[in-house]
Amino acid sequence: MGSIELSFPTQAYINGAWVEADQGASFPIENPSNGQVLAQVPNMGQAETRRAIEAAGAAFLLWRERPALERAEILRRIGQIMMAEQECLAHLMTLEQGKPLAESRGEIAYGASYFDWFADECRRGYGAIIPGPSDRRLLVIQQPIGVVGAITPWNFPNAMLARKMAAAIAAGCTVVAKPAELTPLSALALAEISQQAGLPAGVFNVVTTNQPAQVGAELTHNALVRKITFTGSTEVGRILLKQASEHIQKCSMELGGNAPLIVFEDADLDRAVAGAIAAKYRNAGQVCIAANRFLVHASVAQLFAEKLATASAALKVGDGLEPGVAIGPLIEPVAVEKVERHIADAVARGAKILTGGNRHKLGHTFFEPTVLSNVSPQALIFHEETFGPVAPIISFSSEEEGLHLANATPFGLASYFYSQDLARIFRIAEKLESGMVGVNETSISTAVAPFGGVKYSGLGREGSLYGMEEYLEKKYICLGGIN
Ligand code: ADP
Repeated sequence: MGSIELSFPTQAYINGAWVEADQGASFPIENPSNGQVLAQVPNMGQAETRRAIEAAGAAFLLWRERPALERAEILRRIGQIMMAEQECLAHLMTLEQGKPLAESRGEIAYGASYFDWFADECRRGYGAIIPGPSDRRLLVIQQPIGVVGAITPWNFPNAMLARKMAAAIAAGCTVVAKPAELTPLSALALAEISQQAGLPAGVFNVVTTNQPAQVGAELTHNALVRKITFTGSTEVGRILLKQASEHIQKCSMELGGNAPLIVFEDADLDRAVAGAIAAKYRNAGQVCIAANRFLVHASVAQLFAEKLATASAALKVGDGLEPGVAIGPLIEPVAVEKVERHIADAVARGAKILTGGNRHKLGHTFFEPTVLSNVSPQALIFHEETFGPVAPIISFSSEEEGLHLANATPFGLASYFYSQDLARIFRIAEKLESGMVGVNETSISTAVAPFGGVKYSGLGREGSLYGMEEYLEKKYICLGGIN
């Protein structure tokens, strides 16, 4: 199959130049909706990664000296160009990732909002003066940590990178990014935009590869890299944490989730159904904060299940570029197999399929929106992230039981619940073991709030007033002999 014409780069970006792999190796990027090859991109390894790190190391010495206001101007320009190119970037994302075009547009705006936010935060790298003994003055200043290795996933090919890159370069760091092998084109487009915005060579580099372990090994075994920021699976996060221990690299890890969505008996059911639809089917369920378990009070379980099944069945499945499509394809065939395994296991343990349950008649990796009722907490789907369009309903009969089920997982990224009782809202929000809680709301992601998890879901926070701390070191300066 021939490559289709793309208006964005398909070479890797190192030290301000568009480059091929040393041996000319490349790998294909396919449209998940139809398997069409969109482009070939360089398949890089250790040597190219090392060069990117060295370029970032050299660029760091200059970038960290640039006044915050100048860094802010470039950040703001990146965000503005992204918005000016929103339609093209969204189209590219839907081609390589599959999500509906409206969601891609939203992701570009969300990605751009991080540049806007950190353009402002850039100017707030405050230090402190600490009262000390009378002959001394104690100061604290904040300085950029150095070269950052950023590894990102395929589900949000722009925004996951944007929120790392914006914070890092705002802080004065430089970046070597390794996008997911399934979706590197959106990252390369971001590199081109950064070039247009005047970001100096070497400050942001993109190494493309389908040998992630090789690139990951160089990023962690190279002492020039002082920080690893990763979004992806808990398994790979563990590998990177172990490797990062060699040079004591600072790490931020945004890992897997297993979000509960609890519907209490006093919930506004229609609002809960609308929130459930958004939290379950966005990006075909391939979201780390997707609602994975629907815990519903027994007194409203049947009504909620019926409403959710009706609303789910009405969602249009298809190619993300087609108007009106709400659910695109899953990213690859193994993702469909996991969804099928979860459904079969739940059904074998007594679950009932209320709607969906099968591959979609469009074939390929399209799957029907599926609602299961009467799901057992023993089922696989209760314990593993499905990453697909399946909503399992588990009922409970007391607040304690609902809370216990919600927390019965080693993951702790997001949780959601619906209730109208103020005291219960505080009780539950405080007791849920997760980094983020949506109360009567499932659209919780925003550049101004801290994104991140607890337990197996990770370390550190992205975005918000806390996000830049991940890329800064505090230095204490003691001035003596001041009489
Ligand atoms: P997912 O299940 O979402 O594909 P992964 O954790 O496998 O999550 O992938 C997230 C990112 O981690 C991708 O960019 C992928 O290429 C990268 N990755 C996978 N394995 C490794 C590894 N051993 N070292 C470094 N990066 C890796």
